Amino acid sequence: MSEVLHGSCLCGRIAYDVYDPESMIGCHCTRCQRWTGGSSSTTLVVEPKNLKVTKGQDLVRTFNEAGFAGRSFCGHCGSGLYVIGQDKLYVCAGTLKDVTKTMGCHIQVAFKAPWDEIGGTAPQFGEWPS
Ligand SMILES: [Zn+2]
Ligand SMILES: [Zn+2]
Repeated sequence: MSEVLHGSCLCGRIAYDVYDPESMIGCHCTRCQRWTGGSSSTTLVVEPKNLKVTKGQDLVRTFNEAGFAGRSFCGHCGSGLYVIGQDKLYVCAGTLKDVTKTMGCHIQVAFKAPWDEIGGTAPQFGEWPS
């Protein structure tokens, strides 16, 4: 049995299913701060084939910048949806219902905002896990 999670953007025009998420990551880099407007992104790591957009594919936009992972968002409401890594997708946990994973680790902690207080016991890495 594979695990399936249902997700949607703020306006609900985009919906998707995520199968078999591998782990949860909190990224505190400056780009995630800008993208989310908050302290960090919290995402679930999934195989690209395990994200199926079930509604509103035509509204999915992607912000691309040379040298960085693309970031997909809803073209109507602006919700962040997922980050396109080299061989994984990082799906925004806050868009998904009934997530059972807990935080696996925090990355890019060296770049966190001065007011960002990281709680919990998950390991923290200055940049990436070595
Ligand atoms: Zn939307
Ligand atoms: Zn980041």
